[in-house]
Amino acid sequence: MSQSQSQPSAPLKPLEPNKTAVPSSHRRRSLRLSAARWRQELVLLALFALLGAIVYGVLAHLGWALAVALAGYNFSLVYRLMRVARGARKHQRGAIVYGLPGLIADRQRRIRHAWGRRQRKLVALLKRYHHSAMSVPDAMVVLTPLREIEWLNDAACELLNLNRSDVGLRIDNLIRDPSFVHWLNDADSGRGLELQSPGDEQRALNLRREPYGEDRDLLIGRDVTALYRLQGVRQDFVANVSHELRTPLTVLAGYLETLLDSEEDPHGEMFRILTNMHQQSERMRRIVEDLLLLSRLETTRPDEEYFEAIDMASLLGTIAHDAQLLSGSEQHQIVMAVDSGLWLVGIMRELHSAFSNLIFNAVKYTPGGGMITIRWFESAQGSPVFEVQDTGIGIEPRHIPRLTERFYRIDVARSRTRGGTGLGLAIVKHVILRHDAYLHITSQPQQGSVFQVTFPAVRAERHRPLVAMPRN
Ligand code: ADP
Repeated sequence: MSQSQSQPSAPLKPLEPNKTAVPSSHRRRSLRLSAARWRQELVLLALFALLGAIVYGVLAHLGWALAVALAGYNFSLVYRLMRVARGARKHQRGAIVYGLPGLIADRQRRIRHAWGRRQRKLVALLKRYHHSAMSVPDAMVVLTPLREIEWLNDAACELLNLNRSDVGLRIDNLIRDPSFVHWLNDADSGRGLELQSPGDEQRALNLRREPYGEDRDLLIGRDVTALYRLQGVRQDFVANVSHELRTPLTVLAGYLETLLDSEEDPHGEMFRILTNMHQQSERMRRIVEDLLLLSRLETTRPDEEYFEAIDMASLLGTIAHDAQLLSGSEQHQIVMAVDSGLWLVGIMRELHSAFSNLIFNAVKYTPGGGMITIRWFESAQGSPVFEVQDTGIGIEPRHIPRLTERFYRIDVARSRTRGGTGLGLAIVKHVILRHDAYLHITSQPQQGSVFQVTFPAVRAERHRPLVAMPRN
């Protein structure tokens, strides 16, 4: 894991104590202020009552006296309320208004201040979150349902070779790696993707996609270069060990063969021991060969010059013939349904190895007399598809996601007795990856399995099927 990952992002500062809580001195002051306002209001009321009394003294008419007093009071109230409203509109602070409207103005000012404080606090909090997200060492990109970039952090700019100005653009127009585009369109967002950093091919990234908000996706990219280097060291080690073992094993197998040939009693104990040793050395040789092939597939890039148009009908015919030999006395029924005009552009040696592994597995894990169907066809979407279906022992669903791991075997003893190395499907996976194809496995215990490989449509080539010449 890279160093940057091992360092946790800067922890968020604890929130400041709640400033909106009103201190007691402030509360006392505001109570004093309210009492003063009520007093002012009573004085005003008393003044207008006095005015009413004067009018009564002059006119000796109670109705007029009350009307004048109330009109005066109402007029003063409306005038003061208008001042409060004007003050609120202009955000004026401290405009002196008496009595009841003053009380309203005080309340209004307090609410405005509390609201302002809360807003400032929220802005500070948002800034802190933004800053933390920006300084996370993993690339983070928020994507809209149309795959447009809505937000991205600094690490995303560096690791994914994006720019701040790319906000609003579709990410699949900026990162054009086919595996990335395919992964992005894949509805199964739980699957991760290993990708070479678009900005720096020395860096390896691991991408994940998580649902975010109502309809957004959060793309998280982690720099796994250090992990890759470590893997490289392991791969080199395995390749070197396998390479070193190859010669001594060949010598051993050669001597064992000679000893077996010179053994006179084919029913004796020595013959049995030598046969066993020879079988085991053969098994070791197969494991070494598979390990070497796997390490080559893992460590090299497929060279375009090795790609050629392959006559699949002929290739699958040869493999089916070998499968029939492997079946021997078990007499599996091998059926071919092959579109002979459909050719595939690929690396012959690698595809031969992958298809053989899948077809031979069908034979190995299907009891004698079972049926094996090999299909080669063009899907409705125009993709060339290879499929092998058997009526064998099947696989429990929980094993399926792990089948392509090295040495993953459901039943180790059975695999060994059938001459398996536990590396066949790992080889298949790598060959398929190198051809931009994908593997789909469906199986049920005791009901057989289907291994399907779908290639991109661009790898298909249409040829006129070869018609056998009529014999004279
Ligand atoms: P092996 O050399 O053991 O066959 P593979 O990598 O080819 O190794 O396959 C891994 C495991 O997957 C096998 O050990 C077997 O348990 C299971 N498997 C593969 N193909 C089939 C199949 N057609 N039917 C049932 N199980 C299978």
